[in-house]
Amino acid sequence: RDLVKHFPITKGLLNRTVGKVHAVDGVTFRIGRGETLGLVGESGSGKSTVARLVLRLLDPTSGQIHFAGTELTRQRPAELKRLRRKLQIIFQDPFSACDPRMTIAQVVTEPLEAHRISTGKAARRTAAELLERVGLAASDLDKYPHQFSGGQAQRIGIARALTTEPELLVCDEAVSALDVSVQAQVLNLLRELQGELGLAYLFIAHDLNVVRYISDRICVMYLGQFVEHGPADELLAEPQHPYTRSLAAAIASADPHRPPRWDRIMARGEAPSPSAPPSGCRFHPRCPAAFEPCTNKFPVESTMGERTVSCHLHDAAEVLSHD
Ligand code: SF4
Ligand code: MG
Repeated sequence: RDLVKHFPITKGLLNRTVGKVHAVDGVTFRIGRGETLGLVGESGSGKSTVARLVLRLLDPTSGQIHFAGTELTRQRPAELKRLRRKLQIIFQDPFSACDPRMTIAQVVTEPLEAHRISTGKAARRTAAELLERVGLAASDLDKYPHQFSGGQAQRIGIARALTTEPELLVCDEAVSALDVSVQAQVLNLLRELQGELGLAYLFIAHDLNVVRYISDRICVMYLGQFVEHGPADELLAEPQHPYTRSLAAAIASADPHRPPRWDRIMARGEAPSPSAPPSGCRFHPRCPAAFEPCTNKFPVESTMGERTVSCHLHDAAEVLSHD
């Protein structure tokens, strides 16, 4: 709720603070049990910072994180560690945090030992069951990370994350490095596991096509803020925010069966740096629809049913409809 994370920019020997990176600038969202919330946006939009805040791997500058009725921002380290079992993450490179000399058994059982859930033979038995559950073999336990393809490695990452029986799995660009056909296999595995285990996912990717495949609801993030949020089908059928439209246009032009209605809406240039976000609407320097209020007035969120959008075009639409 109202999550903010600013990183100071320091300079010189005395580490003088000369500015700040607005990595996350006031985002609010909720994820229900067994539900998938997709978070989409370009690199640098703050998605991974949101992931790290949710898991309390980073302290927020302000705002709160509630998990199953407990406010995580207020917990002592021991209590937090206990709750963290229920929150796990998988990354783009599942072995990034592992020593390449570790066996798969060591990789997968590490969280069991870290959380004192089980050790030795019992931990190995759990790891073998989980490897089979994600489509690998118990005999893979004695192999090494380099012996696996990208898709298999991600299955191992999922098995490792499941050892602590999480309720929320944060997937940060978890399939982004994989080939399209392998992506689909891993996404299908995630869906199956969700059905069986009632897992909730915070699914983060820069590719809207991947996010729409798995998400119940989607949040579109731009320079540290949410610009649009709503049920996945509705948001993709009728994107409201010009930035969402530009993301949707990229998919529409690749799909001959979709109407070309958003085809011409393209964001101009590259995203500005989050250390100097533009005034007014942060998207205005790139927005093909920008008009007078956009450069200096911050758009407030308008809500229509389950959807919200932050864009002055919607203020105007509301004013017109009230006339
Ligand atoms: Fe474009 Fe203005 Fe809407 Fe921002 S507020 S997305 S600049 S039209
Ligand atoms: Mg990232």
